[in-house]
Amino acid sequence: MALSGLDIYKHLPKTNCKKCGCPTCLAFAMALAAKKTSLDKCPDITEAAKQILDSASLPPMATITIGEGAKKVEIGGETVMFRHEKTFYHPTAIAISVSDNETNIQEKIEKIKKLHFDRVGMMVGVDLIALKNDSNDTDKFAAVAKELTDKSELPLILLSDNPQTIEESLKNISQKRPLVYCANSKNFEQMSRIAKQYNVPLCICGKDIEELAELSQKITALAVKDIVLDCSTRAVSKCIQNFTKIRRLALKKNFRPLGFPVIAFAENVTEASAYICKYANILITTLDKPEEILPLITLRLNIYTDPQKPIMMEPKLYAVGTPNENSPFMVTTNFSLTYFTVTPEIENSKIPVWLLVCDAEGMSVLTAWAADKFNAEIIDTWMKKTDVANKVKHKKIIIPGYVSVMSGKLEELTGWQVLVGPKEAAAIPKYLKTIWK
Ligand code: SF4
Repeated sequence: MALSGLDIYKHLPKTNCKKCGCPTCLAFAMALAAKKTSLDKCPDITEAAKQILDSASLPPMATITIGEGAKKVEIGGETVMFRHEKTFYHPTAIAISVSDNETNIQEKIEKIKKLHFDRVGMMVGVDLIALKNDSNDTDKFAAVAKELTDKSELPLILLSDNPQTIEESLKNISQKRPLVYCANSKNFEQMSRIAKQYNVPLCICGKDIEELAELSQKITALAVKDIVLDCSTRAVSKCIQNFTKIRRLALKKNFRPLGFPVIAFAENVTEASAYICKYANILITTLDKPEEILPLITLRLNIYTDPQKPIMMEPKLYAVGTPNENSPFMVTTNFSLTYFTVTPEIENSKIPVWLLVCDAEGMSVLTAWAADKFNAEIIDTWMKKTDVANKVKHKKIIIPGYVSVMSGKLEELTGWQVLVGPKEAAAIPKYLKTIWK
């Protein structure tokens, strides 16, 4: 159970020395209860109190890392039931299942590579490969696991409840930190020993939430800390009910045995969508066509994108088409929706353009101007940073129609002639064809 601020306060030194950064011990206790600080900030706490309070300082849901390097995947670490309460941190990791009976692994890898897409300036795609032990052959499974590790950058999930098969595979690939699936009531001691020895995360499978909690406690006691939970049932409604209970118990009741990410399995887009919405941290699916995966990734983006952090483009000078020194020079903000509305219209005009995207903290033109994040000084700064003067010789800037008010100041600062473009992107082709002859 979660400790309240007053419960925590009872165990603090009560000297109000401020070394933790809080004005009083009570303030520190309140911050700790709200997970806004960590216990190690108080240097004077006794060992006995530390042990009691350790649970209060742990996050309610552990963050688990699968894989290593640039493609490693982090799951869990969530602190709220609903995004509007704060934010979600780690999107559902999507894993494509591959059988160890697959005849052409290379072909399968190539197919999985095509499940990556450019969405509003971000590369998004599937995150993991889940290797199934259909052959029941330890050597074959280990060989395919090695081949997948060598040929694909995506981290693996090893699906086998046979400890020997898992250990044989890990001998070659443990440094890539695959997720081992799964430990159950029969094999958990061996699986825990293997997970600990090879330092890999372990998924636990229980027939219901009670068994899952019991197994989680036993496995944690065997010093395995990186755990993922599978509540066994594959019926969508029951599974979502279980996921909701698990998350509620972890976040609201601070029930440690269930404070871990959960895994789901889906055979079709409807099931997969339901699991992405509530509350799968990993989704293993047999779906492997772009037209099946893209809608799931779009749904995932909708749910996991933080509306408080707009999706931004890199601020820089973009060449739309193949502009030269006589091409028009336009300017806008780095709100990605603005960029992806403006550039297709420039392309429609068939006139190549230099497009300067200024850093406006991801705001659209009018909002950024109102917030003083897109003004004459900022445009002047970005023109200098991107060395526009050496790429364009006509010294004319086209600014968005909504910010015509900055024309005079911008001319003064830059010495360039300011042309006021249209207010709406749809009018860009006609405008360019008229003005740039
Ligand atoms: Fe209290 Fe410890 Fe903070 Fe000092 S450092 S004010 S003793 S909680």
